[in-house]
Amino acid sequence: MPIDATLAYDESNIFARILRGEVPCSKVYEDDHVLAFNDINPIAPTHVLVIPKGAYVSWDDFSGRASEAEIAAFVRAIGLIAREAGAVEPGYRLLANVGTHGGQEVPHLHVHLFAGRPLGPMLAR
Ligand code: AMP
Repeated sequence: MPIDATLAYDESNIFARILRGEVPCSKVYEDDHVLAFNDINPIAPTHVLVIPKGAYVSWDDFSGRASEAEIAAFVRAIGLIAREAGAVEPGYRLLANVGTHGGQEVPHLHVHLFAGRPLGPMLAR
């Protein structure tokens, strides 16, 4: 069920629980500001979720409130993870769903990184 991205941060969301170590994840990358792990229900051979460690509901929330250090770390981590996955030359896709129309289901900002096969059109027609 898509969420309203304007709501206050919900500390009980599944990615908050992963960050607290209450729920396991298949970790791909971690630094002071960022965690990345494999999606539990992948739709491409590489399907990684990259999240900030801070409590941000969505891209809207993160872009408005995050520090320069958090934003820089997040952007650089996504690039690094893609390079380390060997995804740059064949190509990859980044996707951040925001709110109801975006189809966002987990209310903690996450960027999907898809790679490993031709990914088709950006949206279904
Ligand atoms: P979105 O629709 O953009 O909010 O995507 C949420 C994503 O989180 C989906 O692709 C789910 O498969 C993924 N997901 C949900 N729970 C977990 C989990 N415990 N570990 C890894 N990925 C998850």
